[in-house]
Amino acid sequence: MSVEIKEKNPKASKKSANGKTQRLAAAVSAKDVTNDHLGNNQLSSAGGLKPRRLTRTVKVGPLTIGGQAPILVQTMTDTDTRDVTATLAKIKSSFARGAELVRLAVPDQRAADSLAEIVKDSPIPLIADIHFNHRLALAALAGGAAGLRLNPGNISDPKNIKKVAEAAGAAGAAIRVGVNLGSLEKQKAAAAGSLIEAMVASALGQVVLIEETGFTNLKVSLKASSVRETVEAARLFAQRSDLPQHLGITEAGDVKSGAVRSAVGLGILLAEGIGDTIRVSLTGPPEEEVDCAWEILSALGIRRRGPEFISCPTCGRCRINLPDLLADVKSRLSDLKSPLTIAVMGCIVNGPGEAQRADLGIAGGQGKGRLFVKGQLEGSYPFDNLAQALEDRAREIDREYFGPKIQEA
Ligand code: SF4
Repeated sequence: MSVEIKEKNPKASKKSANGKTQRLAAAVSAKDVTNDHLGNNQLSSAGGLKPRRLTRTVKVGPLTIGGQAPILVQTMTDTDTRDVTATLAKIKSSFARGAELVRLAVPDQRAADSLAEIVKDSPIPLIADIHFNHRLALAALAGGAAGLRLNPGNISDPKNIKKVAEAAGAAGAAIRVGVNLGSLEKQKAAAAGSLIEAMVASALGQVVLIEETGFTNLKVSLKASSVRETVEAARLFAQRSDLPQHLGITEAGDVKSGAVRSAVGLGILLAEGIGDTIRVSLTGPPEEEVDCAWEILSALGIRRRGPEFISCPTCGRCRINLPDLLADVKSRLSDLKSPLTIAVMGCIVNGPGEAQRADLGIAGGQGKGRLFVKGQLEGSYPFDNLAQALEDRAREIDREYFGPKIQEA
């Protein structure tokens, strides 16, 4: 399939038979794009990756996780769950950036009570994060949590785990067995011989206990702050179980180091077909976690939420203010749903090439720049008009082609 784009500058590009329109292929072909439940783009042209590992499917509220369902983006609120207003605001702003599931800490009964209020107004399913006290898990289920995260490192009494599993089954909720290397059961670690084996044994041990109750709506996570340990644990678990996995590098650091470490760790696993949901953990706002998670999925060609922006690093040849131009273009177009590739390049060395390969692109010159629409030169614009010219054409393509496709979904 191709994108039909009306010509703006017939002199500068080939005319089609009727002289008015020309069929132009998009960088991401429309045949590779389907729209998922949130209107995001599910891409099917993920060349270079191993096939997705076929896991069991799990239901979390209306969402399906695992199997061939989209790899979902999660985050966790950084507000006090007892503060209903602030926590709901955080959930909504994370949702607006593309979060599909949000986890909340439930450290006490007041937080569980607030959760019941928050659930009523949340646009997406909520997961209660439970440690130490299984009664809080029961309270969160009673409050309407779509899922629980249980830590086998601090809730390990089989009797209590089974009580929680039975209540989750009755509520139609999911459970994630979330192993964290930092809170691994000491006996398991000593008996298993290696930390990786211990993480996997800890997860499987709790899975067995839960499944003995007949509950199967289960997923797991095995997180460490070390990329290599996280990757090894997820790989080993994938060899031993077909349960879906939630991926994350825990305690990954501030926005810069957390984004890089998460991209490396999650990128390795996703490229191997492992992983059904992801979270980028940052010492920073959840909204930025969501942005980073989408960047990872987009970089791998798995899913995309709107346009992908390409820009050059600039060098001594650049004669326009490229950082400002890029920021302007991104802020104008970040609401688009189309999986367009948009190149913002500093000069004619690589600019025209990248701009021509992208769906839309700018190649900078002396205080001005050329605008390309899929390989065809549209025209040359003064610097101050470049972003507007690009936006006009991008919105036109978004409306004419991808807009109706998205609305149909
Ligand atoms: S495109 Fe031009 S300005 Fe940008 S890095 Fe390459 S040579 Fe430098």
